[in-house]
Amino acid sequence: MSENNASPQRVVIVGSGFAGFTCARKLVRLLAKADRDIEIVLVTPTDYLLYTPLLPDVAGGLIDARFVTISLPDTLPRVRLVIGKAESVDLQAKTVTVTHETGPDRELSWDRLVLTPGSVTRLFDVPGLTEHARGLKTAAEALYLRDHFLRQLELADNEEDPEVREARRTVVVVGASYAGTELISQLRALADAYAARRGFDRTQIRFLLLDTAERVMPEVGERLGDKALHVLRDRGIDIRLKMSLQKLSEREVVLTDGTVVPTYTVAWVTGVTGAPMLSNLGLPLERGRLTVDTSLRVPGHPEVFAGGDAAAVPDVTSPGKITPPTAQHATRQGKALARNVAASLGFGRAKPYKHRDMGLVVDLGPGFAVANPLGVHLSGLPAKAVTRAYHTYAVSRGVNRWAIILAYLTNAVMPRPLSSLGLVGSEESGFVGSEGIPRQS
Ligand SMILES: Cc1cc2nc3c(=O)[nH]c(=O)nc-3n(C[C@H](O)[C@H](O)[C@H](O)COP(=O)(O)OP(=O)(O)OC[C@H]3O[C@@H](n4cnc5c(N)ncnc54)[C@H](O)[C@@H]3O)c2cc1C
Repeated sequence: MSENNASPQRVVIVGSGFAGFTCARKLVRLLAKADRDIEIVLVTPTDYLLYTPLLPDVAGGLIDARFVTISLPDTLPRVRLVIGKAESVDLQAKTVTVTHETGPDRELSWDRLVLTPGSVTRLFDVPGLTEHARGLKTAAEALYLRDHFLRQLELADNEEDPEVREARRTVVVVGASYAGTELISQLRALADAYAARRGFDRTQIRFLLLDTAERVMPEVGERLGDKALHVLRDRGIDIRLKMSLQKLSEREVVLTDGTVVPTYTVAWVTGVTGAPMLSNLGLPLERGRLTVDTSLRVPGHPEVFAGGDAAAVPDVTSPGKITPPTAQHATRQGKALARNVAASLGFGRAKPYKHRDMGLVVDLGPGFAVANPLGVHLSGLPAKAVTRAYHTYAVSRGVNRWAIILAYLTNAVMPRPLSSLGLVGSEESGFVGSEGIPRQS
């Protein structure tokens, strides 16, 4: 099915993450001010923006998955949503082909194209990884991890074989950057709540955090990283650095030093690479991300822009480097994309992208967090307050903010809910099913 755009002009944005969503929202405002009749189309496989920084809280059962999904029909009423995946782009004919498993392919023409399809989990050639581990990039993965882990705990309660019982009560998380560390902290809190409710010793549930690096969370610096390491170890998390996985099966993992750890629950949170569609475009990539200039334009294609995790955006505050894949940069790049796209259509002036990193907030479960806002190093309860205040402010819709605050307040006075809903299946939560990473041959 083909749709041409005789008039008005059309901007097609691919991906409704932080960059695409913010770009669409700001572009609507800029073009409305200019009184320009330009159609904005957002191509997206989901009808929401996923607030990923709170996925560890979803996996830990602290907040509901719906609270971290910002509805696009509600927030972008003047943007046309095309539900599906942009599969290919014809840069000469200026068209994009959108696929959806339940309908025919759709071809959309564009006058300006904004590529913000984000990133997917970086996988390595580890036997058994795609079959037996789960990532933490989608709501399906977070929900599956929570439900799967709770189910393992329930099965362990009635397991007579002590080895199988121990394996069901063991969790391995690979990746000790902020996402993996937040995940293991939340799963530990969920496990503690379970053990307390069922009346057994929490130390019977074992947690292992692995990373090939020498430190945990290098993003927050040595001092805060070391503090986090001590707190996590005090909570009974076995942290092994300069270590990864050699192979996985359904019932065990083998570490790179040959140690065999029986487990049924493995999370792989070792970083990201650009979305798979980027490699079909025939455009230059840098570390899996699209090459762009400081105005977020793809060199040689003045009508094509890119930003967020999908783009290797030069960091003008640190010459020679590219901006890290964070929501902080993606959101601001979304605004810069809108301004520069509008300028290319004759409204306003383009500006290069410039943003100095404002630091990171990392929630490490009950009563503890680390944060370095504007270079100020915080840990413990002050960091916890900053972290929670930041997330509730950054979630860009009032109803979601309200629900998250209520969930936090409820959790302060009530125990976490422990029922396993089983809504997400094993296939839908895998790297292929939930993130769209092509199956390895
Ligand atoms: C668990 C976790 C915790 C995090 N915590 C933080 C944090 O505390 N602070 C921080 O700054 N950053 C954090 N990040 C990083 C942050 O989530 C990313 O940097 C950010 O999401 C990037 O935004 P984006 O818009 O580029 O891409 P994304 O948010 O990944 O969005 C891309 C969108 O494009 C869609 N898409 C993909 N392919 C296609 C296609 N072919 N066609 C159409 N649409 C497509 C995807 O479905 C998705 O909706 C965290 C990430 C994770 C996973």
